[in-house]
Amino acid sequence: MRNFANTKRIVIKVGTNTLTKGDGIDTEYIEGLAGQIAALVKQGKQVLLVTSGAIGMGARRLQHTGPVKEMKTRQACAAIGQPLLMHEYHRAFANRGQIVAQVLLTAEVLKSRKSYLNLKTAIEALFKLGVVPILNENDSVATDEIGTAFGDNDRLSALVASKIDADVLILLTDIDALYDKNPKDHPDAQPIKIVYEITDKIVRAAGGKGSMYSTGGMKTKIAAAKIAAYAGCRVILAHGHEPNVLEKIISGDDIGTLFMPKQKLSNRTRWILNNSPEGTIIVDDGALKALRNHKSLLPSGVKAIEGTFEAGTVVMINNFAKAVVSLSSEEIRKVAGRHSREIRKLLSPDRRDVVAVPEDIVFIDNPAGDLP
Ligand code: GLU
Repeated sequence: MRNFANTKRIVIKVGTNTLTKGDGIDTEYIEGLAGQIAALVKQGKQVLLVTSGAIGMGARRLQHTGPVKEMKTRQACAAIGQPLLMHEYHRAFANRGQIVAQVLLTAEVLKSRKSYLNLKTAIEALFKLGVVPILNENDSVATDEIGTAFGDNDRLSALVASKIDADVLILLTDIDALYDKNPKDHPDAQPIKIVYEITDKIVRAAGGKGSMYSTGGMKTKIAAAKIAAYAGCRVILAHGHEPNVLEKIISGDDIGTLFMPKQKLSNRTRWILNNSPEGTIIVDDGALKALRNHKSLLPSGVKAIEGTFEAGTVVMINNFAKAVVSLSSEEIRKVAGRHSREIRKLLSPDRRDVVAVPEDIVFIDNPAGDLP
C-alpha cells in the first residue's frame, strides 16, 4: 500500500486521447474528472491541472481528418480548440461550485527566472483562493514548442510540478501502466508497479510514439518522471479512464506505475538542469577532471565554443554538464586556452576570470554533485 496521506500539492496532467472521443471532446469524461478534482480540493488539497487537447479540439472543429502536421495549421487549431476546451472545463467545474483559471505557458516563461517567479506567484495566489489553475502550452504563439520534444505537456507538467514544489504528479493517459515491453506487440508484457531508478532498460521499455494529435508518448512520460524526481516529487502514471482514479491514487491504491523521487535538488540546480542550453563549450580532459572535483571552469581548459550566448545563460559543457556562464561567448572566445593571469588584460578589469564557478555547474549524470 502506498502512502499519499500527506500529499498537499498535486499536479494532474491529462492527454488528448483521454479527453476526446469520436469527433470531439468527451464531455462526460471532463464532468467526471472535474468531480474528482473538486473532491480533492474539498479535502484541502491544492490541485493544478495540465490539459492537452487544444490542437485536437481545433482540428475536430475544422473537420480536419488525419494528423495536423503543418505548423501554422497546428497554431490555428490550438487557437480554435483552447477556448472550446476551457469552456468545457469551466462548465463542468462550475456545476460543482469550483472556480477554475486558465494559464497558458510558453517555454520562455519557464526558462526565464523572472517570468517563472511571476508564474509561481500567480499560482500560489490561485491556490490560496481555492481555485484550480488549468494550464496548457500557448501553442498558437509558442511555435518553437509545437511538434518538438519541448512542446509536449508531459514535460511541461513535470517542469511546473518542479517549479511549484508539488508533492505528486499524476499523468493520466490511455495505458494503465509502464510495461517492461510494448504490450501492443508483446502479449506477455508485464506492468511495472514501481520504478526506483530510471535506468536505460526503463527508457528502452518506454519506446516512443505519440498519438495523432498529441506530442507525447511513453518516452516523454519517462522524461517527465526524471524531471519530477529531482524535485523530490513522486510521479504516478495511470489510466485516465480507471474509475475514481484520483481518489484511488491519493488513498494509496496500488494502481499504475509509481516513479519514486530522488534526492530533492535546490531550485537553482533544477533550473540549470531543466534549462535548454544556448550553446556549447568544449573543454579538455584536464578541465573535465577539475570540474568533476568541484573546481571552477577556467579559460585555460576551453578548447572551443559553439553558438552565441550572453553571460548568465545556461550552456552545455561537452555533453556531460550544464553550466551558467560568467562570461559571454564573445569573451570566452577571446580568452579560451589562456592562463588566468592573462585574462584581466584581455577583458575589462571588472570581468570574472573564470568561465563558470562550481555552484553553477550541474553534471547530467550526477546532478546532486556527489564527489567521485
Ligand atoms: N498543447 C497541446 C494541445 O493542447 C498538446 C501537447 C501534448 O500532446 O503533449 O493540443
